[in-house]
Amino acid sequence: MSVKKEDVEKFLDGNQDFARSYFDKKLKPGAVASIMRIPESKVDVDSFKDICSVEEGGLFYDLITDMQENVNMEKVIFKILKRISALIHADRCSLFMYRQRNGIAELATRLFNVNENSELDDCVVPPDSEIVFPLDIGIVGHVAQTKKNINVKDVTQNSHFSSFVDELTEYTTRNLLATPIMNGKDVVAVIMAVNKTNGPYFTDEDEDLFLKYLKVGSLNLKIFHLSYLHNCETRKGQLLLWSANKVFEELTDIERQFHKALYTVRAYLNCDRYSVGLLDMTKEKEFFDIWPVLMGEQPPYSGPVTPDGRICNIMNAAADETFNFQTEALDSSGWTIKNVLSLPIVNKKEEIVGVATFYNRKDGKPFDDHDEQLMEALTQFLGWSVLNTDTYDKMNKLENRKDIAQDMVLYHVKCRDDEIQNILKTREYFDREPRDCEEEELLEILKKELPGPNKFEIYAFHFSDFDCTELDLVTCGIQMYYEVGVVKKFQVPQEVLVRFMYSVSKGYRKITYHNWRHGFNVGQTMFTLLTTGKLKRYYTDLEVMAMITAGFLHDIDHRGTNNLYQVKSQNPLAKLHGSSILERHHLEFGKFLLADESLNIFQNLNRRQMEHVIHLIDIAIIATDLALYFKKRTMFQKIVDLSETYEEQKKWVDFMSLETTRKEIVMAMMMTACDLSAITKPWEVQSKVALSVAAEFWEQGDLERTVLEQQPIPMMDRNKAAELPKLQCGFIDFVCTFVYKEFSRFHPEIQPMYDGILNNRMHWKARQEEYEAKLKEMEEAVKARQEAAAKNAANSNSTSGSGSGSKTCSIC
Ligand SMILES: [Zn+2]
Repeated sequence: MSVKKEDVEKFLDGNQDFARSYFDKKLKPGAVASIMRIPESKVDVDSFKDICSVEEGGLFYDLITDMQENVNMEKVIFKILKRISALIHADRCSLFMYRQRNGIAELATRLFNVNENSELDDCVVPPDSEIVFPLDIGIVGHVAQTKKNINVKDVTQNSHFSSFVDELTEYTTRNLLATPIMNGKDVVAVIMAVNKTNGPYFTDEDEDLFLKYLKVGSLNLKIFHLSYLHNCETRKGQLLLWSANKVFEELTDIERQFHKALYTVRAYLNCDRYSVGLLDMTKEKEFFDIWPVLMGEQPPYSGPVTPDGRICNIMNAAADETFNFQTEALDSSGWTIKNVLSLPIVNKKEEIVGVATFYNRKDGKPFDDHDEQLMEALTQFLGWSVLNTDTYDKMNKLENRKDIAQDMVLYHVKCRDDEIQNILKTREYFDREPRDCEEEELLEILKKELPGPNKFEIYAFHFSDFDCTELDLVTCGIQMYYEVGVVKKFQVPQEVLVRFMYSVSKGYRKITYHNWRHGFNVGQTMFTLLTTGKLKRYYTDLEVMAMITAGFLHDIDHRGTNNLYQVKSQNPLAKLHGSSILERHHLEFGKFLLADESLNIFQNLNRRQMEHVIHLIDIAIIATDLALYFKKRTMFQKIVDLSETYEEQKKWVDFMSLETTRKEIVMAMMMTACDLSAITKPWEVQSKVALSVAAEFWEQGDLERTVLEQQPIPMMDRNKAAELPKLQCGFIDFVCTFVYKEFSRFHPEIQPMYDGILNNRMHWKARQEEYEAKLKEMEEAVKARQEAAAKNAANSNSTSGSGSGSKTCSIC
């Protein structure tokens, strides 16, 4: 039995459910194609309306594969538009992309005139031949604005229709379907189908098909859009990250800073070239610049103005009169400016400091709002970073100011040419300036003018400066460098040595205790500890020279007040240095003098030697902060203990000479021993010096009372001056004794210092007891008087009965 074609048709028409499930199972587009003996692409969809679900499946599979392979948006949308145009019999379909430039939205053709026979390459619109129209022109613009799809059955009846594109392309639009593609609330694109070929207009069924197919299309456009946004965000992140990196690396100069930042992020800029123009912001306005403005002769300067005030995004440079100069390629590579994005660089003070311009987006498309945002973030960041360089400029200015201040200080502190003649009497001897004399000649003078080792007993622990003038002390100081043999050994120019010592003496302020005399005494004690105390054996000559120098410098420019006072009075020094405030200042001051070539006694050392000297001076001067003394006590004691385990002195010295840290600890403790050495001097000296120390403390106490309005501690309170002996005993017991006891245990040669302190302790104790006895006597006298008065009062009360006039007398 044969089945006729009509029967099958009749059966299938009558059993559509069966037909659908049957073809779903059995037929693929390939099968249909092979049945029809035509290529798969030529399968006539119109004739296979009933099996289009099968074919649809194939199409969607195809599209999704395309999307998976790469997000080639144009290719996928092209396929969909091709299919739509066949399905709904549209003459042509187009894709318009939505974007914003200069804050204004616009639509640009991306796929134009797609129909069922089109090839992709013919329909993709290259960036330079885009048709761009704002949203207020045409139905497509209207769709983007309303975000609603539209079926226009007769364009002549639609008020939004514009013949602008028709005229441009010599075409006549009669009817159309258009729909926006959305990503959330944002329009991404608009798709339009134009002119129904087999009817007067698109039917509702056409519209349904159109929208159904575009669902896949919109998915793809969304992916494309998101991936673009993601790319922008990534670029933005990288841009800022890298710029930050470069910006903070470079603080010196804004131009270098910007260049470095932009060069690093150039890959993310997504443009051919960029340029940055900077205004000269370093120049401050002078009064003669402002006068003409104040006089009304000139308008005030308001910075460069971009067309819309902020951003300038030019799509077609060739058509813009700004680029009239571009009549041919701008360089030998044939490069021309196609589109431009230009933004002002604004600093935190809202001043325009420059303009950044980016040329030709890499994909040839114009810069859009995402580029604008991205570049704005970058330029904003660069603008803010200008503040860094501003701060740097300010710092530079401060630095310059400091230099000037230092220059002034140096002028006053530095030994003058007339002053040096007080010691290095070249004018008297040779009628010449020191610089015109040979070293031999200078030595000849100094041999006569310096006091020599014995005149002032500089080798003695009991040395006293009482019989010396300040100038004598300068000559004694110079003498010591000769005594330890470093002048020749380290080629110290003698004029420099004299000027240095003289300047150090001038660097001390004329205050009650921490004056040049104290500075000298510390240097002298260091010299004596090293020589007489035999501590020199652990140190090289260079180290000896550094230590004596540190002694002389250790309190230079002292203000007569202690570290705590600097903090309480908010002295800038306290802000500059966190701890050991004054000590750090003395150190800086000392190094500042040494930085002057005419004072640098270390000028002929090599770099390594110089570094070593500075290292030792650093440690030595900071070590004079008594607050640090307690930290080094046990370490020093252990070294002394260790020294006692050595029977042979030579072995101990050999061991110590290589022990850098132990040597530094001993040196630090030597500085303390020197600084406190007044306590070891003969009683006549100690009693006087102790008074001057106390006097300086009392002066600080007065300042605390008057300036800070605070009650000073007893040590600084002149009303408690009588307690001085007690305070001295406490100071000897808790601070000083340990130092000299340990040093005399370390080196018996130092015993005189320990003896000295014991003797002074005895004196102070006697004074203390004397005072306490007197106090007790006075208290007893007061008590006796009170008792007598009480007795008298009792007697008179019993006689007179009335009060003696005391107002507090109670009657009740
Ligand atoms: Zn001191």
